[in-house]
Amino acid sequence: MFTLQDWQNLKEQIPRFNSCSPLGSCEFPCPNCKVIGFFSWREAGTRKYQACKFCGFWQEIDGEPYFCIQIYCLICYYLNWNKPDEEKHCNQCGKKAGEKDLVTVPPASEDKNNPCWKEKLKIESKHQKHLNTFKQVYY
Ligand SMILES: [Zn+2]
Ligand SMILES: [Zn+2]
Repeated sequence: MFTLQDWQNLKEQIPRFNSCSPLGSCEFPCPNCKVIGFFSWREAGTRKYQACKFCGFWQEIDGEPYFCIQIYCLICYYLNWNKPDEEKHCNQCGKKAGEKDLVTVPPASEDKNNPCWKEKLKIESKHQKHLNTFKQVYY
């Protein structure tokens, strides 16, 4: 279970912008895929959660983990994350995109052609030393 206390601890441990990746922490690997640079605590309005924008691991406080789906918008060239139970949509253009303009993309953890994969390699090359420490701790 992921509690409010866990979320607050994570927020203390992960300084939001002290990272070479805009998508997550380079210090804390994702608890699911173990990749760095994509996982962080997140906040949207009153919603508090943790998420990995590499494998799609998502968890709201007091909730069970679930996996979000990556949706690529051919109008905006924007890669979105949608909840598994919500209707496919683009966060950039909202309802403007029709079904044919929205392509479901396998998460980077399952597809090396996913654009996040290139980002992952870039981040990893900058953090080789950290990664060796992570391997001892997490693998
Ligand atoms: Zn992950
Ligand atoms: Zn769009």
